[in-house]
Amino acid sequence: MKIAIAGAGAMGGRFGYMLHKAGNDVTLIDQWEPHVAAIREKGFQINFNGEDIIAKLPIYFPAEVVSSKMEFELIILFTKAMQLEGMLQALGPVITNKDTYVICLLNGIGYEKILEKYVPQKNVLFGNTMWTAGLVGPGKIKLQGTGTVDFRNLHPDGEEMAHKVVKLFTDAGLSGVYTEDVHHTIYKKACVNGTVNGLCTLLDVNMNGLSIASCGQDMIRAIIAEFAAVAAVEGVKLDQEAIAAFILNACDLNVVGRHYPSMYQDLIGQNRLTEIDYINGVIVKKGKEYGIPTPYCAFLTELVHCKEDILKAK
Ligand code: NAD
Repeated sequence: MKIAIAGAGAMGGRFGYMLHKAGNDVTLIDQWEPHVAAIREKGFQINFNGEDIIAKLPIYFPAEVVSSKMEFELIILFTKAMQLEGMLQALGPVITNKDTYVICLLNGIGYEKILEKYVPQKNVLFGNTMWTAGLVGPGKIKLQGTGTVDFRNLHPDGEEMAHKVVKLFTDAGLSGVYTEDVHHTIYKKACVNGTVNGLCTLLDVNMNGLSIASCGQDMIRAIIAEFAAVAAVEGVKLDQEAIAAFILNACDLNVVGRHYPSMYQDLIGQNRLTEIDYINGVIVKKGKEYGIPTPYCAFLTELVHCKEDILKAK
């Protein structure tokens, strides 16, 4: 399949590399100049499960893709949340092409509303992924572990393509899963990000540190309860205890407890702005709309924004 990865950082690099290795025609699209320059000069330097690989993948800025009138069957979006709309705008006619499907797998809630503004509904696939990836520096990523990609079509007419993309991912070793109840999947992952990301970043601990700190588990449960109350209004039923158990199990040192969540790595490690508005911030906004109090998400969102200001994050 002719595929573009729009936002070719850590996750875009993983998907781009694995799909290329499986024989697909993959083009990377990115707006971060040092990253594009490094990949053009040295290739994409990837540590894949401990093995150093140089992947020779073409990479372009969005304006180059537009001016060369490139066409793709599938565009996989892997920008950060706050870069998404800018990327969609920059891709202009490339993304609105009636034969181009677009899949969005970003962490967070509600991207289908943004996508609908730029992409015909029948061409939108959306969900999320349990795969992980780490950005080491411009042109360099580190990949380990396993995962799945869980998604579906936004409009009934997109179902055939959704199944094709499930097979595409599975054939590339990425384990695609067609998910009827995609909103449940999205809310569940958002509970994981909405608890460990902000709290570990503010408290300066890894996931295990959070889970064993006094009040750590209480705060995790209180945040999940706010997500569950908001989700319930939208007809999404979250099993709060099961989600808490899932998160606390992940916090075990024998699972991924030593991991510092990506928000920590972005803000504390790299002084980058966070996706907090698209995770806890969405719950605050929806809570206001639905008349549901969300004090934990509101405070956490404000604290993370304060930390971004203090660190002069960009
Ligand atoms: P990333 O930061 O590695 O890359 C995203 C984009 O940011 C890329 O276009 C990249 O070139 C650009 N970028 C990176 N550093 C930059 C810098 N210093 N200045 C300017 N631009 C820069 O992000 P990611 O980890 O690939 O995440 C993409 C999406 O996938 C996010 O929504 C994230 O929450 C989600 N996600 C990430 C993981 C993970 O383990 N990394 C797992 C699941 C979902």
